[in-house]
This record gives sequence, structure tokens and C-alpha cells, in this order.
Amino acid sequence: MASQLITSAALQAMQDALGSEHVLTTEEQMADHGDPMGPPGEWYRPGAVLMPGSVEEVQAVVRIANEHGTPIWTSSQGRNKGYGGGAPRVSESFTVSLRRMNRVLEVDEENCMALVEPGVRFFDLYDHLKATGSKLWMSCPDLGGGSIIGNALEHGVGYTPLGDHWGQHCGLEVVLPDGDLLRTGMGGMSNPHNWLVYPHSAGPSWDGIFTQSNFGIVTKMGVALMHAPEVYCPGWFMLDNEENYGKFLEVLRPLMIDGTISNQPMIINAVCAASAFGERKEWYEGEDSIPEEVIDRIAATPGFGRWVMRFAVQGDAPVVAHNRAKIEAAFATIPGASVVFEEYDGHNLPEMTNPHHVVQAGIPSMALDQMTRWYGGEEGGHIGFSCAMPIAGKDGIAIRDLTRKVLNERNLDYSAAIIVGKRAMIHVALIVFDTKNEAQTREAYAATKAMLEPAAKLGYGEYRSHLDFMDEVAGLYDFNNNAQRRFAEKIKDCLDPNGILSPGKQGIWPANMR
Ligand code: ADP
Repeated sequence: MASQLITSAALQAMQDALGSEHVLTTEEQMADHGDPMGPPGEWYRPGAVLMPGSVEEVQAVVRIANEHGTPIWTSSQGRNKGYGGGAPRVSESFTVSLRRMNRVLEVDEENCMALVEPGVRFFDLYDHLKATGSKLWMSCPDLGGGSIIGNALEHGVGYTPLGDHWGQHCGLEVVLPDGDLLRTGMGGMSNPHNWLVYPHSAGPSWDGIFTQSNFGIVTKMGVALMHAPEVYCPGWFMLDNEENYGKFLEVLRPLMIDGTISNQPMIINAVCAASAFGERKEWYEGEDSIPEEVIDRIAATPGFGRWVMRFAVQGDAPVVAHNRAKIEAAFATIPGASVVFEEYDGHNLPEMTNPHHVVQAGIPSMALDQMTRWYGGEEGGHIGFSCAMPIAGKDGIAIRDLTRKVLNERNLDYSAAIIVGKRAMIHVALIVFDTKNEAQTREAYAATKAMLEPAAKLGYGEYRSHLDFMDEVAGLYDFNNNAQRRFAEKIKDCLDPNGILSPGKQGIWPANMR
């Protein structure tokens, strides 16, 4: 028996279906499939890892799970760092890792679309585009090692104009909890000429129910690419004071809504900015939260500020020149603000050394992993406390003050990375800790939990959450007696009566575990 939840018969059936070399059972084999950032002792971890290599094998896994009543938890790459990695909500159950299904099935150069399998990492698509001589750009998050599909399904982001990754998908193929196979949108036809360009069918549109849910295993997805821009112009906005932070957000909002800034910017505070380049001990060794005077010292370092925003303008040269001037004029109205730009030929990008410029050009890298090493170096951990809100001074200040207060009271630093979309921003408090320091690790999880309810009272829900808080987060979506959760449970009972697929994902439990 691999774990208390997995019977020998279930394990044997999975081994027969996949080949025993594709069923991982030892601690060593599974080490890369869990959540390495938890406190010591009992924590979320797989009982065995199943690695199907085809859609048919995913269907076989689902059928066996139903026959044996054993839960399976889906992950694509399992690198959902800060939210639980590849670990399952129900510890010791099977996890299904889709890493072996890693083919780029199609690149449509004319329509700027690709069709990928779930194991395809951002690195893989990039390498494929380069190897096949494609001229197209893609979008990627700060760390390129995750999967394109897992990231999109969790509403992850990137930093080109395609940065709303879920918004830029078109067409899904899904294995349902009973093993049936569904294609969404125009994929509902057996020979569509438009699956990857027209996202709907004659209705209903099902795609959304497969994001952040436990209603299916996505085995293919269409993903948008873009033409390389004539000019790529990454910019830095710096604000040397805290007082004008609200005004900055007010000035930024119309620039985002009207598309003057065409990518997805990221706003970071001084601590987060410093963490991209080095460890905490270079600035402060105290065990309390980093003091204001040290933050001021960081902020005064050339290139930093109390707040910094990386962003980019891209397109034809006259458009870029026009938008640059508009941005410079708008930000010049903010006391203590400055803006700098760099300009590159988008068709012939040079080797860029600044990792922020690299990621905003859709080139995957791991350089920004440094940010999570603020405490603890290689063994640094982080949790994302991530609320969605309007791009507005009132909202930015409210969530800044709440998270900073809770974290500082618990001797943790406030490191903020705010991802800005067209109308909304996601304030990610990057709660960083040293995984070797048990007390600090526990405090980081407790602090995150402690912020959920006060944030909800202010009207901010988390857009994504660590396994450990999924129930609490779902509970806070409380309109009409938690109508969203009740609706999800109805669908769950219908699609997955045996409750085998990712029980507890986003607080959705099957009837037998409620
Ligand atoms: P990444 O591939 O970026 O590392 P993960 O594999 O950790 O992301 O996936 C993040 C979460 O998204 C998983 O915990 C799972 O709930 C969901 N997920 C990932 N891949 C799929 C998929 N192919 N089908 C359904 N849900 C998925």
C-alpha cells in the first residue's frame, strides 16, 4: 500500500494502465511533486504520483479512480509555487502529473495561435517557436518553469499585451470525471476550421467552469501569440515617497483602460524591488520586520523608490512615441515621480540582461526566483496573499495598510507585487519566509490566514489561494448564503458522483466528503 488512502489494488491497476515506471511511489521520486514550502511535519503531499502519457491514459486513470473510489489531484507541472505546488488538498491521495504530455501540437503563424498539451512549460513553447523559426512572441509569467495550461487555469498572468493568460486562451479539451472527453467552443464539431480562433460555439460556453475547479482535467488548450512589435520599449516608473502612492494609481488607471500602456505592468514596493537583486541580510539582520528607515535607505538607492513600476509600450514606432509622451506627461503630475525608458528593435531583440526586460518581452527565465530568497536563500519560501481590486488609490492604500500592519505585527516584512490589468489590479502580498525557520514559517501561514477576513470585510476577495486556505477563501464568497459554492456543489455532484477528482479544490468538496 502506498498510503492510507491508496489501496494496493488501486495502485496495481494504475501501474498496469501506465506502466510501473510512470507511477512514482518513493519519497525521493515524489520530492519534486509536493509543496516544499510548508512547515515541518504533516503537510500536504501525494501518496503516489501518476504520470499518464496520453489522453487515453488520463481517461484510464480517471476510470480506475472511479472503480476504486480513490481521489486523484490534477497538476500539469506542479510548480504553482506560493499556492501549494503540486501537492493535493487531500494529503496522501494520488496526484496526476501531466509533465509527460509536453507536445506543442500546432503553431498557426497566420492566426497567431498555438495548441499545447498540459505539460508544455513556457520554456518549451519558447524553444519550439525559436527552433521552428517562428517570428511570433508569446507571454510568460516571472518564472518560466510552470505549464502554460496550469497557469491559465489558475488565472496566472504574464507581462506582454497577452498577459491575461486565461483571457488569451481559445478552446479546451477536457477529460471529465467519468472519463468522457469534451472539447469546448468550436471544438464541439468533429472537423472545425475555427476551434482556435473563435472561442464560443452556439452555446453554452463551458470553458470557465474548468478554471480553478475540480470538474475536469484539461488535456489541450489553444493559446494566443502575437506579432513581434516594431519597437519594444520597457519603462520604469519610480516614486520616491509613500504619500503620492494613491495619486499614482489614479493617474495609472486611465492609461491602462485606454491602452496607452499596452502590457500588464507590475508595481513593486521597495522591499520587493530589493529582493529581486539580493537577500535581506544585505540590508537588515534584525528579527523584527524591516524598519522604515531601512526601507527609506533601499528606496534612495538609484533605480529603486518607495514604489517602482515596470511596464512596457510596444508597437509601431509612431504609436510608441505618442504613447511614451502621453505617459511621461501624465506621470510628471505626480510629486516625486520619474520615468525612464529603453528602446529595442522588437524584430531583432538583443540579449537583454535585465530580467524584467526579458520577461516583458515574453521570454521565459528563472532569474526572478531570487525574489523568494529574501529570507533563507535557496530555502526561502513564499505564500501569495492575492486580492483583486480596481486600479484606484483608495483600494491600493486600504490593502497596503491592512497587509503591512498584519505582517509587521508578526515580525514579517511587507513585500508587495501588484499586477496591473486593464481595469483591475491584483495586490500580491508576497509573504516571504525561511523554510528552515519553523516558527517563522508557521507565522507566515498564520498571518496569511489572519488577513482573509479583514480583507473580505473591506470587499476584497482572493483571486487564488494556497491549499491551506481554500475552504476559508471559498467561505468568504458569501453572497446569498454562498450561492457560488452551492452552485459548484450541484455541478460537482452531477459530474463526479464518486468524488474522485481533486476533492477540496477551491473549497469544492464532493458529497461524501462535505
Ligand atoms: P504549473 O503547471 O504552472 O506548475 P500546476 O500544475 O501546479 O501549475 O497547476 C496549478 C493548479 O491548477 C493545480 O493545482 C490544479 O488544481 C490546476 N490544474 C493544473 N493543470 C490542470 C489541468 N490540466 N486540468 C485541470 N486543472 C489543472
